[in-house]
Amino acid sequence: MKLLEGKTTIITGANKGIGKGIALKFAEHGSNVAFSDLAYNEDSKRLENELESFGVKAKGYASDASSSSESEKLINDIISDFAVIDILVNNAGITRDMLLLRMTENDWDMVINVNLKSVFNLTKAIQRYMIKQRFGVIINMSSVVGIEGNGGQSNYAASKAGIIGFTKSVAQELGSRNIRCNAIAPGFIDTEMTAKLSQEIRENWTNDVPLKRPGTPEDVANVALFLASDLSSYVNGQVISVCGGLHT
Ligand code: NAD
Repeated sequence: MKLLEGKTTIITGANKGIGKGIALKFAEHGSNVAFSDLAYNEDSKRLENELESFGVKAKGYASDASSSSESEKLINDIISDFAVIDILVNNAGITRDMLLLRMTENDWDMVINVNLKSVFNLTKAIQRYMIKQRFGVIINMSSVVGIEGNGGQSNYAASKAGIIGFTKSVAQELGSRNIRCNAIAPGFIDTEMTAKLSQEIRENWTNDVPLKRPGTPEDVANVALFLASDLSSYVNGQVISVCGGLHT
């Protein structure tokens, strides 16, 4: 059974990693997919083709999610290309890991702007369309680190904790308009973001996970599918961890 037949989704930061995994899963379930990343490149072109092979409409856009003017333009462009947006997945994110002692103002600002301000930018730009159509689903990519904190990631943890507060507030503001807003908190997922960690850190993280393996983009995409579909029609303002039991 296809769970998103006829829907249209926008996913930020989807040229690779978790965002790409969500794009593929949503297309498999019948959703048209607009996706953005910092650049429109070979990865974007390849993903467009993969998505179209599921028989849906797909288009990649170059747009910096941390810029409010680019985000507004992105949403307007997608509305002119697709006519409607039903689902927004705020996925774009970066790390600049560092002990606070060595963290610069720029390391702080970069992570807060790309991870947290982007969620404000896209949600703000899309809300008027969703309010008008009296339907919408918003999914924000937080992290278990936003719930528990993590030494060496104070900027990242603050951005991901901020996303949780934003998610719960938007759920309360827009629920009466039939717009649901939830967050996903992944644990240790195998993507380029975690590939840059040392072998030792990756082994330690894997050992700490009760399921004894890193997660895959598809593990996260399956939960995003649940949150985007009517299977979760009474789930609003929640944070679902996808972490193999790392955070309980
Ligand atoms: P990734 O680095 O593999 O992919 C992130 C994508 O976002 C890249 O394609 C990158 O170009 C894009 N991006 C970066 N800055 C952008 C910007 N300003 N505008 C638009 N796109 C931008 O990372 P990932 O592991 O797939 O992570 C995806 C999301 O999941 C992030 O928000 C991340 O914080 C979160 N997350 C990841 C993990 C993990 O273990 N991988 C764990 C918890 C949360």
